Amino acid sequence: MARLTVWATALAVVLSVAGARLAGAQGPAVDWKKQEAELLKHHRALIQIDSSSPPGNETRAADYLKKVFEAEGIPVQTFALKPARANLVARLKGNGSKRPLLLMAHTDVVGVQKEKWPVDPFGAVLKDGYIWGRGSRDDKDKLASNLMVMLLAKRSGTRLDRDLIFLAESGEEADPEGVGIAYMVNQHFADIDAEFALTEGGGALIENNRVTAVTIQTSEKVPRRFRLVATGTSGHGSVPRLDNPLTHLSAAVAKVGSFTMPMRLTETTRVYFEKLASISTPDKAARYRALLASPSADVQSYLAANEPEHNSMLRTSVVPTLLKAGVGPNVIPSQAEATFDVRALPDEDIPQFFAQMTRVVGDPAVKVEPITTNLRPVSAPSKLDSEMYRALEHASAALYPGAVVMPAMSTGATDMAQLRAKGIQAYGIGPASTQADTINYGAHSDVERLLESSLYRLAEFTWRATMEVAASK
Ligand SMILES: [Zn+2]
Repeated sequence: MARLTVWATALAVVLSVAGARLAGAQGPAVDWKKQEAELLKHHRALIQIDSSSPPGNETRAADYLKKVFEAEGIPVQTFALKPARANLVARLKGNGSKRPLLLMAHTDVVGVQKEKWPVDPFGAVLKDGYIWGRGSRDDKDKLASNLMVMLLAKRSGTRLDRDLIFLAESGEEADPEGVGIAYMVNQHFADIDAEFALTEGGGALIENNRVTAVTIQTSEKVPRRFRLVATGTSGHGSVPRLDNPLTHLSAAVAKVGSFTMPMRLTETTRVYFEKLASISTPDKAARYRALLASPSADVQSYLAANEPEHNSMLRTSVVPTLLKAGVGPNVIPSQAEATFDVRALPDEDIPQFFAQMTRVVGDPAVKVEPITTNLRPVSAPSKLDSEMYRALEHASAALYPGAVVMPAMSTGATDMAQLRAKGIQAYGIGPASTQADTINYGAHSDVERLLESSLYRLAEFTWRATMEVAASK
């Protein structure tokens, strides 16, 4: 099994490189050195627009983009449910022989604690080879890189088989009013409808100064929630009662909290663990391969204890997060409740899952109540055998030779859920970074920064993949 996997990976690399050469023939050649100054200028300008959400004020970023596009003769449209939180769409027309490609990035950023920053968080300071600033990697790098791809496609006069749609969306980080992706999908879907989409959610790993792995987000877990509600008779704390809801709820929380849904691999996670095994230390690789062949209880409990993220990728997770009960130390309350956060595998049968929870609780005094808020829709994984996924593999082979390309399933939810729910094959990409940088200076960190060289390679990566699927042959 191990041997076969290595062999298959080696073959995949050979095929990818061959494909990349072919792909190089598509679209005009670009002198990337010459694009760096302009790309950096846009990236920095976008960081310097403080679009912390809330309140977002994304319209200021949309205004900047509008000016840039219009100066190039690319028409734009803005769509705003709230005037200060506009989305922007620009489109380059293709000949219509294929359905569009959507290049999406969000314009808002999370807030900052200024005192934690060694530099101005909205200064886009250049220091030590990095661009420092809130949004430098979440998500103004994709925003600037997508912008550059549009500008280059227009300037080069490239003939396109499909429209290129640029979407700068608001409200990705905080959107209680539904001004961002929900608004675009529900009210203006015709303006962004596409076969494929590229947006945030993936990345590339730098080890010893070279990129060793590229992750493409193809799938994500489905967030769901429920409450356990225990009811009984209220009364005086001096008189014990058998139907005390706290006692019943505690027992139920303990049962559900320690219950483990069975492990199940999806197409994405199967390939992910295969590829991960090919670049892991021998002991780790042995465990990942065991997951693919015969996952023992030992391997699974090892991951649960030591690699919780991987454990979550294997199954629908059920986690208690809130407890609400009691009015005073001498009062037996009539009700007690606990909230659970569920992250379901994309193909989980949700009604059956809730029925199972009722069986696990096994107590008629405790009811399972699904919580229906505006959670993200169920979204089927994007395909690994699509033209877009192959183009991303080719771009990776050309730009990061020898790197393993891994499809990934996010345990958290992204705006791709809404796109996938509408049938768009969406793929998450991202810039290259060391693991230390991702941990200490990544998205939502106290301090955020991006390697300057990674911004340039992200744009080239996006360009190559875009041209391969969109440029006329
Ligand atoms: Zn983001």
